Amino acid sequence: MNERCPVCDLRFEREEGYFLGAMYISYGLALIAIVVLAALLWSLLHWSIQKSVIWGLIFFLPAAPLITLFSRVPWIYLDQAIDPAP
Ligand SMILES: [Zn+2]
Repeated sequence: MNERCPVCDLRFEREEGYFLGAMYISYGLALIAIVVLAALLWSLLHWSIQKSVIWGLIFFLPAAPLITLFSRVPWIYLDQAIDPAP
C-alpha cells in the first residue's frame, strides 16, 4: 500500500493504529461473505448448516487479504468525512 495518495498527496496512515477502525468494516464484510457462501452451499448442495458454514469459511479464506485491504477504502472515506486532513 502506498504511503501517500499519488493524486492528492493524502497520507493514508495518519497515526499509529489508524487502520484499527478498518478492521470493523473488514469484520462486517467477512461475515456477510461467509453467510452468503454458506447459504449458497446450503441451498445448492443441501448440506447441513454446520458443514455449509465451515466450507463457506474455508472458501472465504483466500479472499481475506483482499477484503482487509479493501476495507481501508471506506474507512479512509469515513475518516475524511468526519475529520478531514488539513
Ligand atoms: Zn487522493
